[in-house]
Amino acid sequence: MAEKTLFQKIADKEIPADIVYEDDQCIAFRDINPQASTHILIVPRKPIPTLNDLTPEDKTTVGHLFLVAKDIAAQEGLSNGYRTVFNCGEDGGQTVYHIHLHLLGGRPLAWPPG
Ligand code: 5GP
Repeated sequence: MAEKTLFQKIADKEIPADIVYEDDQCIAFRDINPQASTHILIVPRKPIPTLNDLTPEDKTTVGHLFLVAKDIAAQEGLSNGYRTVFNCGEDGGQTVYHIHLHLLGGRPLAWPPG
């Protein structure tokens, strides 16, 4: 069996995290190195390495991550807006190869990103 990803270990409660939401498809927890006052990672339970590995069967799961992001943003009081980001691959700044949607908010976010 393939070794678990870091985020599978968090989902399986083998590594602690500040979990804010979970359901049968995904788990959401606070980033260990937050880049804004709210910085939450929303992670599918399925260990898809990068966006390039998505298949049509993942459509519902990925759509679900955005619906969860919207609900968490409301829970966090981000009424002035927020950003959702998937980093993909080296140039995209991805460091954990188990896809995750970043939810960032609580301050104005610059554009373009660095
Ligand atoms: P990426 O760079 O792959 O888009 O994002 C990975 C994110 O995971 C980073 O923002 C990083 O701070 C976060 N991260 C890495 N290791 C851990 C961990 O053990 N726990 C939590 N909560 N976040 C982590």
